[in-house]
Amino acid sequence: MLNDKIEHYKKTKTELKNTPAHYKKEFEWLKEVDSLALANVQQNLRAAYNKFFKQGAGFPKFKKKGIKDSYTTNNQKGTVAITDSTVKLPKIGHIKARLPSKINGLIKSATISRTPSGKYYVSLLVETIATTLPKTHSNIGIDLGLTDFIVLSDGSKVANPKFLSKLQDKLAREQKILAKRRAVAKANQRKLSDSRNYQKQKLKVAKVYERITNCRKDFLHKLSFTLIKNHDVIAVEDLNVKGMVKNRKLSKAISDSSWSTFAAMLNYKAEWYGKEVVKVDRWYPSSKTCSGCGHLLTKAELPLQVRSWNCPSCQQKHDRDINASINILNEGLRLATLKTVGTTGLA
Ligand SMILES: [Zn+2]
Repeated sequence: MLNDKIEHYKKTKTELKNTPAHYKKEFEWLKEVDSLALANVQQNLRAAYNKFFKQGAGFPKFKKKGIKDSYTTNNQKGTVAITDSTVKLPKIGHIKARLPSKINGLIKSATISRTPSGKYYVSLLVETIATTLPKTHSNIGIDLGLTDFIVLSDGSKVANPKFLSKLQDKLAREQKILAKRRAVAKANQRKLSDSRNYQKQKLKVAKVYERITNCRKDFLHKLSFTLIKNHDVIAVEDLNVKGMVKNRKLSKAISDSSWSTFAAMLNYKAEWYGKEVVKVDRWYPSSKTCSGCGHLLTKAELPLQVRSWNCPSCQQKHDRDINASINILNEGLRLATLKTVGTTGLA
């Protein structure tokens, strides 16, 4: 469909409106496939096309097999359902599955995907009523740590989990072996697809990689939920990840600890559970301001390696990151009040 769209566009500079039905005669096997899966592909393609035409996004690309194989189907009156140990999918029927504790709500759609290590997952989109969490009358500021994952305005620091760095070491070792096997195959003038040792190792690497991704996600989910549960206003720095890659201090911290995933989790969970995430401008001098008296240090007075300092004005001793998170909290609360006043004023 994409290819026909491309050819049509080259000739006419307009969009070809083709549907999967047009192809079923030529490609018999399309009839074996769940028709909603095809309809969803068509929708995705149209969305990508609209983005290209109307919003000036890049031209839609072909999807490569084996990188991120998945399809989405919709629930039509029970065509997608779950039991204690199976998931039911259109055209396939019940498949054994390990499911989490009870799923409450109406299943809208299911996305079935296969990871590079060969595992299959089903992700269910469920419509449900979110119950807000009780107010705690506690607020918190979060600073992105340099050595820790995050530093909080209540003085606590959350380190990156140890098992993650252990797994990362393991990944590095397995990747080294993979590189060696690639070199051996090349020296023997063998295709990588024919080299069994290489393929075996590739699978091993994929498994370790997946384990890291899953562990990290688990860590981020638990941490973001705890923060949302225990606090009403959560103030964070509005970090522009693209801009930050230029910043040597932060680029490593970000790539290592998936800060942007974490920030996204905080945002949607706050919305679900009736809490508030306030973003503080990233140019706000949270590190250089004394949280006690407001004295502002110059850049030269607070180089990166200085982890703690004494305020020249009020003599208070500061841990660099904790002081920053307190400032983020105060600025966040100021912005939150402004917002409340602003909306009341309008009403
Ligand atoms: Zn001070």
